[in-house]
Amino acid sequence: MILLPALGRGQDFIVDHVRVFDGARTIEHASVLVRAGKIVAVGPAGRLASGIPVIDGSGRTLLPGLIDAHTHIQSRLDLQKSLVFGVTTDISLHMPPQSANELKSGPHGATTGDHADLRSAGYAATAPGGDGTGYGFSVPTLTNSSQAQDWVDDRIAEGSEFIKIMYESGGEYGRITRPSIDKPTLVAIVAAAHRRGKLPSAHMHTDKQAFDAIDAGADGLAHLYLYGNDEVDPQFSQRLLAHHMFVIPTLTVLRSACGLSPGQAIIDDSRLRKYLFPEDVTLLQRNIARASPSDCARPRSATAALDSRGVPILAGSDQHNAGTAAGASIHGELALLVEAGLTPLQALQAATSVPAKAFRLMDRGRIAPGLRADLLLVQGNPTVDIYATRNIVAVWKDGAEFDRDAWFNQVNTEIH
Ligand SMILES: [Zn+2]
Repeated sequence: MILLPALGRGQDFIVDHVRVFDGARTIEHASVLVRAGKIVAVGPAGRLASGIPVIDGSGRTLLPGLIDAHTHIQSRLDLQKSLVFGVTTDISLHMPPQSANELKSGPHGATTGDHADLRSAGYAATAPGGDGTGYGFSVPTLTNSSQAQDWVDDRIAEGSEFIKIMYESGGEYGRITRPSIDKPTLVAIVAAAHRRGKLPSAHMHTDKQAFDAIDAGADGLAHLYLYGNDEVDPQFSQRLLAHHMFVIPTLTVLRSACGLSPGQAIIDDSRLRKYLFPEDVTLLQRNIARASPSDCARPRSATAALDSRGVPILAGSDQHNAGTAAGASIHGELALLVEAGLTPLQALQAATSVPAKAFRLMDRGRIAPGLRADLLLVQGNPTVDIYATRNIVAVWKDGAEFDRDAWFNQVNTEIH
């Protein structure tokens, strides 16, 4: 839907008489003023400056553009697909830095209005033959802790904003035996990243590995996991809290690993399916399927337990794995977070202000004066019905409206 003709970057507008979810809380009957790509004011409805275009927000909710905290972006097309679904920032945790740099442009990684912003860890830290080495691009690996600082410094020199660590040391209950960096190397990478002011997050598969990541001082867990005790260890949340760590459950990709076809619910929703390309549908129909359906009860209850104890939960799709699609899958992840026990408001926080704070992206993730006008307008009220995030009326990136229908129809014609 095109709300305003030729609404370009930097054009001024007001969304009036709208419910605002500002990243933390809901403000009923508000007005938001945008000028030159920035949010300038948030106030009571009908009271902001006149003389500029007004978009009627009646019956609608304005949200910060969504942040997908765990993706593996491969192309500009992925970033455009993200924006179609209201994701204005993708955090990519393992991708070739050359590709990442090509997809970022302008100062501080600012990108233009027709695709989501990319922030990337570049290559993840892993052992030769370890997780992350099998994706069709060569990866600089580590074999011991003495290499950690040079390895981290190389990533920073390549432009990586974060550090991602693949840690599977100690096995996975006999299910997968891949090489992994050892615990001293994990500890050394975390320390090396902190020495340079970078934020390390860790991928792991078991309770023991997660406790190692906590001991090492990592800033966050990039996944929950399927293997561990049936009961969530109460110390788990206590220690995550004590270390100020965040958790990205990635319930979508875990359900794919459990053979539970998380992509089917995306395909079955006509609001989402309308903007899926055939290759998206193909990937959504697949499962990783290496565990059994019952294994997925554990990350679900762990998510609820962590959330109830105040551990920051971030929404991440782990996009480009089987059962996921860029952009669309964040809506599925939000629904799964609610199904696990978060309130819709908490789920929305998990895709806006919480990841912005966790990854130190302080210019976004909230609707407040001075922040980027990365905005999502939806019909209805997603703070009580999480599925309303799919009723997308408009998406703005840097204050420019992205014409989702025109873009989708053009690209679909070009490539299919
Ligand atoms: Zn991942």
